[in-house]
Amino acid sequence: MTRKLKFNSIRNIEILTQEKNKAEAIIESISDGILVIDKFFKIELINRAAQNIFDVKEKYVFQQHILELIYNKEIFEMAKNSMKDNEIGFSKKFVDLNIQRGENKLEYCRVYVHSMKTIKGIVGVVILLQNITKLKEIEMVKSEFVSTVSHEFRTPLTSMNMSIELLLKESLGSLNLEQKELLLILKEEEKRLRNLVEDLLDLSKIESGRIELKFMPHRLNELYEIVYNSLKIQLENNKINFKFQDVKNLPKVRIDINKISWVMINLISNAIRYVDHNGKGRIEVLAKKINEKILIEVRDNGIGIEKQYQERIFDKFMRIESENTPATTGTGLGLSISREIIKSHSGEIWVKSVINEGSQFFFTLDSVY
Ligand code: ADP
Repeated sequence: MTRKLKFNSIRNIEILTQEKNKAEAIIESISDGILVIDKFFKIELINRAAQNIFDVKEKYVFQQHILELIYNKEIFEMAKNSMKDNEIGFSKKFVDLNIQRGENKLEYCRVYVHSMKTIKGIVGVVILLQNITKLKEIEMVKSEFVSTVSHEFRTPLTSMNMSIELLLKESLGSLNLEQKELLLILKEEEKRLRNLVEDLLDLSKIESGRIELKFMPHRLNELYEIVYNSLKIQLENNKINFKFQDVKNLPKVRIDINKISWVMINLISNAIRYVDHNGKGRIEVLAKKINEKILIEVRDNGIGIEKQYQERIFDKFMRIESENTPATTGTGLGLSISREIIKSHSGEIWVKSVINEGSQFFFTLDSVY
């Protein structure tokens, strides 16, 4: 009996060792970097790919604090947040990390953080590092191309606009009604194209980091005033119930006020398009403080967005065309630009929506103490 028990336990240990070796071999062979840290943020495991990314040997970083290897506040915050049982809803999904290789070479890693849960609760976190250097390089070429082409469009568009204006003023001879109507359509189309070109230029500037942001501490009321002044007429003309929640007690935010007001104007203009225009439409802007962030919400009771589109509407040129969607003249770039602006403020933007009930757009900003 004892011999049998002993035999079984040896056999179990063998199986366990085999499984452990198998798991280690898999982790080592994965081309993405993997780092495991314990509850005290000490490195427990670093696979070969992660050692290559940081150009370190396992024996030198084992049991070191994660901040000694990756000095990045955002990643540390993500790890800290993942250690908590009640993760905050807006915690980031990933962070892009720049790694300097030699003097002129930069590599890019996308970093994901996941908690490791066992029956005893959270025992640590896994940090996944994906090398996205090629992807970034392609994005940069694409962005440069778009920027050059858009720029080249500007001059002919300006002269088209001037010619249309001249013709409409009848400076070159009088026009009949049909000619005028055609010119007005032409003017509208020219405006649409110009907006698209401007949006594309803005987007490529922000994406490539060529835009200079002027970060300053501002009260939310200052921001709301700019936003309201630019939307006042639109809101009044459309008989929409609009409200900013009181923000007197909230701390200041660290923002480029022009850029963030652009985001809010875009979100509220979208909401205006998709709510009822006969008195039942409601739009509200709410804000609250969560840890070091301010969470802003633009809420409407409009047509809502189907689940399948809720992530994709932040992609370039994504517009939902359906029977229920009013035919509007947007470019499908507003939310991509908004996402880039919020990203440049180290924030997040996302949407929650129920079809026929309304949408809630959320974004986060850094608060100032
Ligand atoms: P645009 O408004 O120029 O079309 P956006 O990027 O701002 O581009 O928006 C993308 C799409 O998301 C819109 O075309 C619309 O289908 C959808 N959308 C945005 N905001 C709302 C909203 N508040 N309610 C319903 N649909 C919305």
